[in-house]
Amino acid sequence: MTLAEDVRARDPRAIARAISMVEDGDQGLRELSAELYEHTGRAYTVGLTGSPGVGKSTIANQLVGAARAHERSVAVLAIDPTSPLTGGALLGDRLRMQAHATDPNVFIRSMASRGHLGGMALAAPEAIRVLDAAGHDMVIVETVGVGQAEVDVAAATDSTLVVVSPGWGDAVQVSKAGILEIADVFVVNKADREGAEVAERDLQQMLRMGPEMPWTPPVVSTTAVEGAGIAELWEAIESHRSYLESSGELDRRRASRLLREVESLAVEGLRGRAKRLLEKDPSLTADLAGRRTDPYRTAAILEERISNRP
Ligand code: GDP
Repeated sequence: MTLAEDVRARDPRAIARAISMVEDGDQGLRELSAELYEHTGRAYTVGLTGSPGVGKSTIANQLVGAARAHERSVAVLAIDPTSPLTGGALLGDRLRMQAHATDPNVFIRSMASRGHLGGMALAAPEAIRVLDAAGHDMVIVETVGVGQAEVDVAAATDSTLVVVSPGWGDAVQVSKAGILEIADVFVVNKADREGAEVAERDLQQMLRMGPEMPWTPPVVSTTAVEGAGIAELWEAIESHRSYLESSGELDRRRASRLLREVESLAVEGLRGRAKRLLEKDPSLTADLAGRRTDPYRTAAILEERISNRP
């Protein structure tokens, strides 16, 4: 059996190996990816983003339980784009796995991007496709840190959940971070804490003041440690999914994500080629430094050499 076949048979070790290959930007990735691609597009993907400590992991765990209660297989990918050194099966993963250790329909794994061309923005969709090809009905992508990279990764899913908790700075932070635009569902977690109602009200008000949208993100309160509100959150995700499917938006979004991905892949390829061409011909940089040519002309020379590639 090939690795791709083992992945499709949902062999956890094969899946883990395939994801390590994605992290490392392994040589065999192209072939694996080509073999798996036709078997993807079936999983529904959910992204979870928000500041550290708001409760994303706890919510992800609860959603795993909800998915299993609905007899769906589920994978969780915990991503930290800012740390190239973590990754692999972390202690936290193993602890989290324990609750589902004997359940072949649950897969949990952390991931970093160590060598993947184009970093996490390109590694994440690839890893999601591995889990998709493995036949998981749902793939939950949880981002570990904060920042643009995390927001990008979380937004590259079918439903993006933005999690806040009381005292986080709430609405102001959300609008500042530019994550208002990517939120399909807002989660106010730690509803057991003081200030949760205020946070919820602020978010609702902000949404009312914002532009009219075909889908208005619902605001769901959860106390994830106790499992409270998780059924409502599950329903909110399902409603968003129904909206995406019935409006044709799901196909459009997926197609445009694929286009962007292909574009980035091509750009990364060209970037590498430009770099190698510059290294191969030191006279180009020497002429540039000596003011004998200008940057535009040098770039044009590079472009020409790239397109003349045999
Ligand atoms: P993450 O960094 O966003 O993934 O947050 P975690 O899921 O690791 O949670 C951070 C801390 O908040 C942990 O100690 C959780 O037990 C705690 N926590 C999570 N959800 C709740 C909640 O609903 N209420 C309270 N009081 N604590 C929570």
